[in-house]
Amino acid sequence: MRELGNTFDFSTRLGGGIEGVLFDIDDTLVDLRSAAIDAFHAMVDDLLEGVTSERLRLIAEDFADDGAGAYERYMAGEVTFLGQRQLRLNRAFELVEHKPLSEQSYLRWAEGYETLVKDSWKPFDDVLPHLAALSSWGIPYGAVSNNVEAYQRMKLVRSGLSGFAVVIGSDTAGAPKPDPAPFLAGCSQLQTAPGRTLYVGDNPINDVQGAENAGLIAIFVDRESKHAAQSALTVSNLEQLTALIGQSINSLE
Ligand SMILES: [Mg+2]
Repeated sequence: MRELGNTFDFSTRLGGGIEGVLFDIDDTLVDLRSAAIDAFHAMVDDLLEGVTSERLRLIAEDFADDGAGAYERYMAGEVTFLGQRQLRLNRAFELVEHKPLSEQSYLRWAEGYETLVKDSWKPFDDVLPHLAALSSWGIPYGAVSNNVEAYQRMKLVRSGLSGFAVVIGSDTAGAPKPDPAPFLAGCSQLQTAPGRTLYVGDNPINDVQGAENAGLIAIFVDRESKHAAQSALTVSNLEQLTALIGQSINSLE
């Protein structure tokens, strides 16, 4: 856990306790980055013969980390979901001086990629124990995510994550994160007060700033030690968050 500089007293901030927890899904609960890297490798190996394994690794990471900045354009309604994926693939090919795929080849590629990536979706190891702890404390939880609700519900189920009665997608509340609307919709469906609801995510802007602007208590999950969200309570993993919530509950008893 990073130094909190004595500015964040978890127990004090929580006052009468935590009423609920809302989570980001991608790269907070589900290890989407690893799934994307694995699927990308499997789908370009034959196409990019002659490219060194080191450069393949770099472009796979760039694709997964969206070096093209395409997902924001999807959220802004400028391109489709498949369109943003194509922009990321085109950039990867360009980085190794390779011609982009034709439209038809891309559509076949995208179909193969989608099948592989879905098979690779899995939660981080600390997720199931954390959700079990929340349930044991009677704390309800849900998800607020920047992708279509039906797709994200399917992702949770395929990742073996049940118990999410509340799932807010980018299409559920009329605007994606960091707009306050999806956070407030999550609290409303969870029937919790925003000021007593934790929002747990890995993106400093969409998750941390968005949740804080909506009046929730943001928790930044910094799995890769990026130290990118200075304002929020930061944890390295959900095991640390379980311990913090446990302490906060004990301090109220
Ligand atoms: Mg995320």
